[in-house]
Amino acid sequence: MRRTLYDQDHEDFRKSVRDFVDREIIPNSAEYEQEGMIGRSVWRGAGALGLLGLCVPEEYGGSGAEDYRFNAVMDEELTRAGLAYSCALGVHTHVVAPYLVERTTEEQRKRWLPGFCSGEMITGVAMSEPGGGSDLASLSTKAERDGDDWLISGSKIFITNGYSADFLIVAARTTPDTRSKGITLFGVPTDTPGFSRGRKLDKIGQTEGDTAELFFDKVRVPSSNIIGELDRGFGLMMQHLAQERLASAVCNITHADLVLESTLAYARERQAFGQSIGSFQYNRFMLADLRTSIDVTRAYVDACIAASTDGDLTAVDASKAKLWTSEVQGKVTDTCLQMFGGYGFMNESQVARDWKDARVTRIWAGTSEIMRDLISRSLELG
Ligand SMILES: Cc1cc2nc3c(=O)[nH]c(=O)nc-3n(C[C@H](O)[C@H](O)[C@H](O)COP(=O)(O)OP(=O)(O)OC[C@H]3O[C@@H](n4cnc5c(N)ncnc54)[C@H](O)[C@@H]3O)c2cc1C
Repeated sequence: MRRTLYDQDHEDFRKSVRDFVDREIIPNSAEYEQEGMIGRSVWRGAGALGLLGLCVPEEYGGSGAEDYRFNAVMDEELTRAGLAYSCALGVHTHVVAPYLVERTTEEQRKRWLPGFCSGEMITGVAMSEPGGGSDLASLSTKAERDGDDWLISGSKIFITNGYSADFLIVAARTTPDTRSKGITLFGVPTDTPGFSRGRKLDKIGQTEGDTAELFFDKVRVPSSNIIGELDRGFGLMMQHLAQERLASAVCNITHADLVLESTLAYARERQAFGQSIGSFQYNRFMLADLRTSIDVTRAYVDACIAASTDGDLTAVDASKAKLWTSEVQGKVTDTCLQMFGGYGFMNESQVARDWKDARVTRIWAGTSEIMRDLISRSLELG
């Protein structure tokens, strides 16, 4: 079905992102995989192209696009290079940016946004902790007041860009013995004394992207680094997670589509019993099911992108998109790996890599179980 979401401006933008991916990322991706992190030149190149500050007003160095469709195009094109790229740059552009644009003071915007947009300042969001990620309200990293400063102590885990980040949004408890009502968000430059990083975490997929455990030992930040209001961080996280989940959904369905396309090509060529494996009725029907799932899902995701562009995407609809796309992607990558037979089980095959890369999408940004919980709450079941 023809997609009607994008107009010529978006397609022109797509071409420039695609050129960037082909020129700056794909030729260097083996090196980034070896190092377990994406090179700084990618960040600077993305900054120069205006990708990092898509929703940031021009006066702070951004593109001032104010149209989520550009963010979606960026995700679709970066996913061609690998989910690790759309995740790493996406956390920065789609997740961190709204906090820094919408929840900050003028002084903070002037201080943080120019470096954010240029790619000089790589960022991430540190919410999850070793003790739990689903139940964010129970987080135990604390911030204690010391004059006009705060001292942050505790640890975070599984933080995307955590190893390369220059700046993190950190969720910490500012009022003891509370749950959601006593959490505050702080902007923390990672060169602040007391901050340290563990090793790059050894993941089963997306090895080009860095994911880290972070430690805070009385990290001193001024009150002027509070993002939003004191003790109101939990509500902000819940609001902004909707966009993170939409971004995840765009990448998931794009990735599933790419995997299916390469599998269709293989199924046409690979022979067994004197015919192509794709021509067996069982496989034809299976591939037809995958094509249908992806196309129907894509229509829902496009509707969510349009709703986000209009400013009325609900948290529940974003959760549905995230849940459904990650489950479809899981089914697609697993079925496609099967179509490659023994080659599919080899680490060197692209489909094996896609299968490993995709597994996390049912876990991060809220697990499938948490998505179902959020959606079910809207059903007024009591
Ligand atoms: C590669 C990667 C990158 C990530 N990036 C970031 C990041 O940048 N920033 C960040 O803050 N976090 C990040 N995370 C953390 C991620 O958000 C958490 O892993 C996720 O929210 C789950 O938390 P957990 O791992 O502590 O699992 P737990 O919360 O311990 O959950 C374990 C299991 O219990 C289930 N469960 C929990 N509660 C319920 C319930 N109420 N009902 C039913 N089942 C339930 C879960 O669904 C899961 O299956 C990342 C994780 C990964 C793997």
